[in-house]
Amino acid sequence: HISTRPPPTPSPLRFSKFFQANLRILVTGGAGFIGSHLVDKLMENEKHEVIVADNFFTGSKDNLKKWIGHPRFELIRHDVTEPLLVEVDQIYHLACPASPIFYKHNPVKTIKTNVIGTLNMLGLAKRVGARILLTSTSEVYGDPLEHPQTEAYWGNVNPIGVRSCYDEGKRVAETLMFDYHRQHGIEIRIARIFNTYGPRMNIDDGRVVSNFIAQAVRGEPLTVQRPGTQTRSFCYVADMVDGLIKLMNGNKTGPINLGNPGEFTMLELAENVKELINPDVTVTMTENTPDDPRQRKPDITKAKEVSGMGAQDRPAGRLGAHGG
Ligand code: NAD
Ligand code: UDP
Ligand code: UDP
Repeated sequence: HISTRPPPTPSPLRFSKFFQANLRILVTGGAGFIGSHLVDKLMENEKHEVIVADNFFTGSKDNLKKWIGHPRFELIRHDVTEPLLVEVDQIYHLACPASPIFYKHNPVKTIKTNVIGTLNMLGLAKRVGARILLTSTSEVYGDPLEHPQTEAYWGNVNPIGVRSCYDEGKRVAETLMFDYHRQHGIEIRIARIFNTYGPRMNIDDGRVVSNFIAQAVRGEPLTVQRPGTQTRSFCYVADMVDGLIKLMNGNKTGPINLGNPGEFTMLELAENVKELINPDVTVTMTENTPDDPRQRKPDITKAKEVSGMGAQDRPAGRLGAHGG
């Protein structure tokens, strides 16, 4: 049986968007560390208009000060747990505190941000036909029993621990993304981000790279949390932003690991920081927090495939891509 039904016709608006490649892009959490670097990169393209929605919990206007007042830029104080009505072509959904001390500060709010916030952004994507990218996390693998972690690994996550508001929250956010994709045909992209560092990290957010550097500069002991043999793999923020933009404009839904596979123990990291910044500081062992993952290193085979294909400025839309 051959269907005689004509194919759906894109609306004139979306056609013109496609050919001119003028994109209006929403970045939730755009006043934060990764978000503000992403905004800088998106604003380099003169055809892009960028809207940031952020409640400034961990981000700040300061991170975006060079764009405030720019005709292609708009900053909205908005909490993603409330509905948002804007007309956009793409949504980079980053809004969520990322550092353990901040996401544990108000865990109920963290899970609301992940679940209700992502639901609202998906409802928005559905209403306006936008493509949406979620910044998920390597934390969805929990304390991983497989090493390095591939996207096929389902993880080892404590559902009731002090980190659960973040890692289970992101797992539900991923589920919502796939349910909206399957049920409503929304174009989705999921990045599983591994530890990222660079300028504009919060100096007081307790993360290991910023802690060690600040301690070395102040001449204080570097605080390695026990046992010190736990590992992480650190990616520079500019590379992370390139990966996010390629993933958004490529044709794979993900989830895709984004990160640098170079793996260090925290003791090795402390020695590196000491050598580079202040050889006189000492290293001291301190208490760790519950459920700290013992090892973490991304398998980035899939990300390499995406970056091979990713045409950076290929617009989203019906003609642009289909899930893979
Ligand atoms: P960040 O804390 O610097 O940025 C998060 C931004 O979201 C901040 O500007 C904050 O004010 C905003 N925000 C928080 N809750 C909000 C809410 N309810 N409504 C609106 N805005 C809200 O963190 P980051 O390191 O830039 O992380 C950005 C994204 O990347 C997060 O989704 C995080 O889970 C993910 N991620 C980051 C890392 C990393 O190493 N930095 C690793 C894995 C995943
Ligand atoms: N939503 C939003 N902006 C929009 C459209 C929807 O914030 O432009 C929110 C809406 O308030 C709802 C959520 O997204 O809470 C999910 O929307 P959807 O239409 O999928 O579900 P429903 O409204 O039917 O529950
Ligand atoms: N860590 C440390 N000293 C510090 C802060 C953190 O040894 O001052 C360790 C922490 O126990 C964890 C790793 O560094 O094993 C990474 O912690 P971070 O909070 O930076 O990120 P996470 O990967 O846990 O989200």
